[in-house]
Amino acid sequence: MSLERLPPLREALAAHGLMAKKSFGQHFLLDLNVTRKIARLAEVGENEVVIEVGPGPGGLTRALLETGARVIAVEKDARFLPLLGEIAEAADGRLTVVEADALRVDEAALLAEAGAAGGAIVSNLPYNVGTPLLVKWLTGTFTPNAMTLMFQKEVALRIVAEPGSDDYGRLSVLTQAACEARLVMEAPARAFTPPPKVDSAVVRLTPRAERPDAARLKALERVTAAAFGQRRKMLRSSLKALGGEALCERAGIEANVRAEVVDVEGFLRLADATSNPPPLAGEGDREAVEGA
Ligand code: SAM
Repeated sequence: MSLERLPPLREALAAHGLMAKKSFGQHFLLDLNVTRKIARLAEVGENEVVIEVGPGPGGLTRALLETGARVIAVEKDARFLPLLGEIAEAADGRLTVVEADALRVDEAALLAEAGAAGGAIVSNLPYNVGTPLLVKWLTGTFTPNAMTLMFQKEVALRIVAEPGSDDYGRLSVLTQAACEARLVMEAPARAFTPPPKVDSAVVRLTPRAERPDAARLKALERVTAAAFGQRRKMLRSSLKALGGEALCERAGIEANVRAEVVDVEGFLRLADATSNPPPLAGEGDREAVEGA
């Protein structure tokens, strides 16, 4: 059978007696027009390798395969494997299904097994693990070529938020330090089966060429956790444990402002300042003497 001859998704679910499970964050996109739109927004090239997290009944998987991509689909719920196997049969070897928890999977190893040097990530993410997965892809050793990810809308807005807005916070700074981030599509709750309580949105993330390394991102996480943990306070007090006013001075940031007005570049300077504390009093003199 070819991809075009596969049965409609509702029929495939019924034929396998499958119902959505809340514990797996299952809200399915059963309209192929919607999944095709997401696949288009992912800008996947022919034969490019895509890791898809949570294929479920395979609506997005099918749309990605239609673009000519090769797909590695990581699904935690084993009930879907027979149905996904039928899609794999129709895909001429371009779909590999892996039963695993995406939080634990080694993406670089999956790509190496597929003989690919790199790959993109595309997913209609399970809400309950969406943010931890994003943080894994932002801060881990594996860097995707691009990420096209559906989140609950509130999280998507936080990811792309700019300084000065109520949505701007830790997730905005961490994501935008590592990637260029754009909200590219909104999807109302009714687009899903069963409908969740909230609307969703797709963000497209393109890693920056000058992506901060792991140590710098860790320092950034520490500073943003402190600054936004007390977001109503001025930096001189919210960052007190990390050096307060002296830290702000070294980073060239005003200490009398709140976290929400500091841009990503400013937070990176604060992070760098925590890693490069000033020499202890007298240390400079000793070095000068020893070097003489
Ligand atoms: N892609 C399908 C769609 O758009 O209709 C399903 C999306 S549904 C929101 C999330 C999917 O992720 C489900 O198939 C669920 O079983 C799977 N899932 C949940 N937690 C997971 C995890 N930790 N690792 C891999 N898959 C997971």
